[in-house]
Amino acid sequence: MGYQYDQDNIFAKILRKEIPCDTVCETKHSLAFKDINPASPIHILIIPKGAYINFDHFVKEASEEEIIDFNRTIAEVVQLEKLNPDLDGHGYRLIANTGLHGVQEVPHLHFHVLGGKALGPMVVR
Ligand code: 5GP
Repeated sequence: MGYQYDQDNIFAKILRKEIPCDTVCETKHSLAFKDINPASPIHILIIPKGAYINFDHFVKEASEEEIIDFNRTIAEVVQLEKLNPDLDGHGYRLIANTGLHGVQEVPHLHFHVLGGKALGPMVVR
């Protein structure tokens, strides 16, 4: 069946600048911006600029340059927000909700960086 990317998803619209976002940082292949409905004091979304639905789609089809850029942009956000435990930050959680069971709302790959408070258990048991 393959990956059917929806060009009208909200993050595609953000990338086309049809709707605004609060940008944290931007590179050739990636964009980081604040979540509109933050679940913690720091809640930032990092997306690749390419049309990838989720993590497995991205890793299968993105170039090495895009994959490296995306990972480095996530690390850059962690650094910008001073969350790195090795630099005396209090740490963070990195989440990529995927598909039906992952409860993914927006069908464009995004990682959430959450921090700024103790986040509690990873999932509801
Ligand atoms: P998901 O459930 O797909 O992992 O998360 C989607 C996230 O996108 C949610 O945390 C939601 O608050 C955020 N979001 C949805 N629409 C917008 C928007 O228009 N702008 C921004 N900045 N975030 C959005």
